[in-house]
Amino acid sequence: MRSVEQIAELLRKKGLKLTPQRRLIIDILLHDRTHPTVEEVYKKVLETMPEVSRTTVYNTIREMLNLGEVAEVQDLSDGGIRYDTTGEPHHHFFCVRCRALVDVDLALPPVAESSSELADCVILKQQLTLYGLCPACSELQRQEEKMEQKEEAVSSR
Ligand SMILES: [Zn+2]
Ligand SMILES: [Zn+2]
Repeated sequence: MRSVEQIAELLRKKGLKLTPQRRLIIDILLHDRTHPTVEEVYKKVLETMPEVSRTTVYNTIREMLNLGEVAEVQDLSDGGIRYDTTGEPHHHFFCVRCRALVDVDLALPPVAESSSELADCVILKQQLTLYGLCPACSELQRQEEKMEQKEEAVSSR
């Protein structure tokens, strides 16, 4: 993972200044491992700098995307685009219930090699998202199922 200072250097080379606002936004992006949306980054920024506009947050994230320092992550739910820092390549686990998107360390062989459809494609990145229930949500689901079974038993009496 790059430091804010390294990113500041990249911005300078592109003729962009690292304003305190940009610094804060970049710092949040680099350290937030929850893969936040623009809106979530904006809310965090407001805690420290209430005067920062949503547009500034959006534009700074765009700049980071252009620099290749953050990446968009797909979100199957209606949560919109979420952002990830592009340090180490990694995979994801997505909880379909609470929408937690967690980084996962998986030692996978290059899977494209096992697909004839991909034979002539150039693979730039291999990123897998596994969908399911996180431990807390699977526990909730179990409890709900138990409740339903009880209700059924009562109503069939
Ligand atoms: Zn969950
Ligand atoms: Zn990630």
